[in-house]
Amino acid sequence: MRYYIDVILPIPIEKLFTYEVSENEADYLKQGMRVAVPFGKKKIYTALVFRIHNEPPSLYEAKPIDQLLDEAPIVSPTQLEHWLWIADYYMCTIGDVFKAAVPSAFLLESETIITKNDKFSLPETALKDDEWLVYEALQHQPVLKVQEVSQIIDRKNVFPVLNRLLDKQVLYLKEEVYEQYKPKLVRYIRLAPPYTSEDRLQVLLNELNRAPKQKEVVLNLFTLEAATRKPIKVKELEEKAKVSSGVVKTLIDKEVLQEYHLQVDRVQYAGHETKASKVLNEFQMEALKQIDENYKKHQVTLLHGVTSSGKTEVYVKLIERMIAQGKQVLYLLPEIALTTQLIHRLQDYFGNKVSVYHSKYSVNERVEVWNHIMENNTKAQIVLGARSSVLLPFTNLGLVIVDEEHETSFKQFDPAPRYHARDAAIVLAMMHKARVLLGSATPSVESYYNAKLGKYGFVELNRRFGNVLMPEMELVDIKEKHKKKRMNGHFSDRLIKEIEEVLSEGEQVILFQNRRGFAPIIECETCGHSAQCPNCDVSLTYHRYKKQLRCHYCGYHIAEQRSCLSCGSLELNTKGFGTEQVEVELKSLFPKANIARMDSDTTKGKYGYEKIITAFEQHEIDVLVGTQMLTKGLDFRNVTLVGIMNADNLLNHPDFRAHERSFQLIQQVAGRAGRTRKRGKVIVQTYNPYHQILQQASMHKFLDMFTDQINERKQYKYPPFYRLIKLTFKNRDYQKLHEGTNWFSTSLKNSFGSNVLGPEQPPVGRIRNEYILNVLVKIPPKRSIKEVKTTIRKIKKSFEAIPQYKAIRIILNVDNY
Ligand code: ADP
Ligand code: ZN
Ligand code: ZN
Repeated sequence: MRYYIDVILPIPIEKLFTYEVSENEADYLKQGMRVAVPFGKKKIYTALVFRIHNEPPSLYEAKPIDQLLDEAPIVSPTQLEHWLWIADYYMCTIGDVFKAAVPSAFLLESETIITKNDKFSLPETALKDDEWLVYEALQHQPVLKVQEVSQIIDRKNVFPVLNRLLDKQVLYLKEEVYEQYKPKLVRYIRLAPPYTSEDRLQVLLNELNRAPKQKEVVLNLFTLEAATRKPIKVKELEEKAKVSSGVVKTLIDKEVLQEYHLQVDRVQYAGHETKASKVLNEFQMEALKQIDENYKKHQVTLLHGVTSSGKTEVYVKLIERMIAQGKQVLYLLPEIALTTQLIHRLQDYFGNKVSVYHSKYSVNERVEVWNHIMENNTKAQIVLGARSSVLLPFTNLGLVIVDEEHETSFKQFDPAPRYHARDAAIVLAMMHKARVLLGSATPSVESYYNAKLGKYGFVELNRRFGNVLMPEMELVDIKEKHKKKRMNGHFSDRLIKEIEEVLSEGEQVILFQNRRGFAPIIECETCGHSAQCPNCDVSLTYHRYKKQLRCHYCGYHIAEQRSCLSCGSLELNTKGFGTEQVEVELKSLFPKANIARMDSDTTKGKYGYEKIITAFEQHEIDVLVGTQMLTKGLDFRNVTLVGIMNADNLLNHPDFRAHERSFQLIQQVAGRAGRTRKRGKVIVQTYNPYHQILQQASMHKFLDMFTDQINERKQYKYPPFYRLIKLTFKNRDYQKLHEGTNWFSTSLKNSFGSNVLGPEQPPVGRIRNEYILNVLVKIPPKRSIKEVKTTIRKIKKSFEAIPQYKAIRIILNVDNY
């Protein structure tokens, strides 16, 4: 009998691949374990075992696997089922999901290893200089990596040298896989066994009379051990005995002391005692009661609670109960910027039961969190994470909280899998028979509609905690202000006056501008030219601080220009403005205030957000200028004024969600004002103060917004009534792209008629030298979405078989945002 395994490879191929294994291996392997397998000519990949069986593949000869990598599965059965659902629903491959889900340390890559050939016999003079350097290095170090050779000969491309050496039979090349995850080890120290008895210790101490430092070390170790009865770290001992590491080393060499290593987690909660959670007020209590009622009938409940109504404290109560039952809780957040505050809040209540999982953590840290979840350890009973944490190996999930459920960043845009974390979380919860709580002050039109239909349970919290009033909103007409010369740069007299007042009261201000950089465009006053990105159809954004013009799509940048690139004129002017400019103007308007900026340019690095948020919390900053990353869910006690610098660029998106999003954004930014003590104020600067959405947002009229939007969506056939699949076509050749896309959309129209829109060029029609065209398929309410997808897949297959269209890339985006 022969044995085979079907495996998932971390690459975008449709099918599972089959490899041959021995009977022993077949016996040992389980679904969810990793194996290293050869693929293509030279590559070795990490693959995930999916099925073990006896059927040889019919189309190819199964190769044997390279090696086994795990002792136990790293992926749980439910998790795998969920990944399959994602691949199917979002029309990508299971390999895409596998690759996105696991920390990269789990995906071993093969690496070329260079070893010396001991039989090499030519005289050394037969080697050229660079060859000799490598040869020389191999005499000292039996194994070299490509990277190391590159450093030795100080050159990027090392393969010419290696090939020459290979010809001269100086060395061997070999592919090898290696484990990237390295457990973090800490050095501990103890007395070597002969000295643990008291008599021997006494003898030792006498012997050490002539080496007072060494004696000091032994005495200190003895006291530390007696006092703590726990393993003693080498470092701890050195500090206590006030000696250098050399002294300890001498004792280890003399075999008086013994060192050993223990594995520790990289992320450790250093906090102290946990606190009891807060006592809920009557409204929160009522909400909690209703949530419980709802769970009798619904798996998913939507909590619509105005900003600062105390939703988080209600979540905390639900979490408490879940973990008392030994269940796991997933707490999803749209942005890692938010975790900073929330992690502290949750750790106060739950201590080291909280684990965080997001992209700013190192791969090693992520592996540790992953393993804790897989093993259902209490250390990761509550997982706080962004989007990708729905892909983690939960084994016993009881509750999913999706905070700020309306946020569009829950939808992955690029690369595949293009999944919506909220929707994927609901499916995951179903598989675990777990509950879901969606929370928001401004629910998405979709979720609110589902609640209205009775698909989801629905609970409201209508007042702010402590009865603080909702902030007062003032719309300032900047067209009018410009006319009357009441603008100072981009600040209206109203906004300036309010900032003055707030600062004089010792309170804080948040200013919001939805663009980073200094100005989106620098335009020549003489000829109208503005610098464009050579790779994308977009103007370069001016970053004054870095003295650069940058493309926000591809990262291309050039130094700031003093004169027009086209006509040489010195009269250049900026158009539009970003956070940098707000900051600069603010500094000249309020020279005494402490001003800081929070956008993706200032929050690089693991603690980028944390530093700014903490400084603001501790009032080292008076005014914080930022993009939307500072609008969501943050809880600052002392902010009483929020300024929206320009509400119009929110409204002008060519997108059916633009109005819904503007409403949400304005309400959310406004929600940062006056959260705990006195009523806050929000100044909204706009050219269109009578715009419906601005009116609704400024009067906190969520229901009006919802009703308008749902009617429009119905009329124009958009979600939640119609489902959308967006197809994006990309190619460097504009003509070919047009032809190919037309072929595809014509085929789609044959099946779906007028429910196919496009091809249409997006606002930025070329990015990184690739032209882009979109086609939108709308799926009517009664039509089976499965069948539609099958048809699209079929058309795609035929399309890919046409030779001249081969190079056109197709991106499928289901439920596109
Ligand atoms: P939301 O999540 O709805 O925006 P939060 O849960 O952040 O609101 O609550 C707003 C503020 O009110 C926070 O500072 C929080 O600590 C405080 N708060 C909420 N509920 C209570 C409570 N029951 N007791 C004391 N303080 C509370
Ligand atoms: Zn010019
Ligand atoms: Zn570009």
